[in-house]
Amino acid sequence: MSKLMDCYLLYTVLLLLLGSVSLSNARPRANRHPNFMRFVTNATDFASEDYYDYIIVGGGTAGCPLAATLSQSFRVLLLERGGVPYTRPNLMTHDGFLTTLTDVGGVDSPAQSFVSEEGVPNARGRVLGGSSAINAGSTAEPINTSSRTQSAIRDALIEVGVHPFNGFTLEHKVGTKIGGSTFDRSGRRHSSADLLRFSRNSNIRVAVYATVERVLLSDSGSNVSAIGVVYRDQLGRYHHAMIRDRGEVILSAGSLGTPQLMLLSGIGPRSYLSTWGIPVALDQPHVGGFVYDNPRNGISIVPPVPMENSLIQVVGVTEEGAFLEAASTVIPFASPLHSVFIRAPASPLYVPVTTIMEKILGPVSVGSGSSPYLESEKDIAYPTP
Ligand SMILES: Cc1cc2nc3c(=O)[nH]c(=O)nc-3n(C[C@H](O)[C@H](O)[C@H](O)COP(=O)(O)OP(=O)(O)OC[C@H]3O[C@@H](n4cnc5c(N)ncnc54)[C@H](O)[C@@H]3O)c2cc1C
Repeated sequence: MSKLMDCYLLYTVLLLLLGSVSLSNARPRANRHPNFMRFVTNATDFASEDYYDYIIVGGGTAGCPLAATLSQSFRVLLLERGGVPYTRPNLMTHDGFLTTLTDVGGVDSPAQSFVSEEGVPNARGRVLGGSSAINAGSTAEPINTSSRTQSAIRDALIEVGVHPFNGFTLEHKVGTKIGGSTFDRSGRRHSSADLLRFSRNSNIRVAVYATVERVLLSDSGSNVSAIGVVYRDQLGRYHHAMIRDRGEVILSAGSLGTPQLMLLSGIGPRSYLSTWGIPVALDQPHVGGFVYDNPRNGISIVPPVPMENSLIQVVGVTEEGAFLEAASTVIPFASPLHSVFIRAPASPLYVPVTTIMEKILGPVSVGSGSSPYLESEKDIAYPTP
């Protein structure tokens, strides 16, 4: 039993390292489609060719607000490879945070798992709202610290000398602070997709399940410029989105997706592109390089007293720039080992787990231009939908 528990805890810790934590047995609540969803359409309904002033690739944290802003004055197309977040109760609630991060198996899961070259498991967003729809929150309104976990970590940080206590602040000041969250007081998530409501409806179109495969480039002598993109819909059909005079293609497909698309379009280190047989449109030695992890160490304990679910609210910022945080969750205990000898209990057992985390400023080393993002033949054929 203790081996099983060790194994389970290790698994849990790996998940907690991805971000903050919450309850995995979320109770779904009804989700309504916001009004702006009328301009969000499945890519299968789009014409095989159309023209826009701005084509934005990636409807994530950066892409959604950018599209909303540009639509005030221009005709905008936003292309997102994933679906919409509002139909997914786990994704929309604080309580479903962990479930969303563990549910990475499907081709349509909002969290797409990947493993770095060093073997570190991680996830990235694949849904309108991007990683802001699966992450642990960021900076919004103040939240209370009535949580037992957060009160304990606040008192502990002050006791060990992480001074001063800065109260609620969105700044990363040295000392102990209470931060913000993109979950509201009722535990509902507000991702960047919500910002699409500020769009000018008549000027914007949003295609979901639209996987961009390539940026189309025109080469007029020394000047290489983007003239459109090719994207694929769920039925495997190809569409061309082209820009009008003086229009632009903007890549906001995330720190992995953006360099991958540039490389697939022939923009990158000449020698690297040549090894993959991609015709070089623009020799840019640094595309795909200088990306580094944001590592976090964590210690998980099974507390002797019941703990509530608690996302990160209190943060200790040390002189050295480390961030100290804690989170608690209650996890249904299920053996990761499938065996005919281990029967599932009739009613699930729940295990409280508290994790104390230290996030350091950054690693000593950063990625170089020699390790970009085309890792297999599959990546060359098309970007991961
Ligand atoms: C698990 C987790 C926890 C995190 N916790 C926090 C936190 O607590 N606080 C914080 O500040 N930050 C946190 N982050 C980081 C933060 O979420 C990211 O830095 C931020 O969301 C990145 O924004 P982006 O716009 O660059 O990319 P994303 O938001 O990831 O958007 C990229 C979008 O592009 C789409 N895309 C990619 N390729 C293509 C293609 N070929 N065609 C069409 N669409 C494509 C993707 O589906 C995605 O929707 C966390 C991240 C993760 C994954």
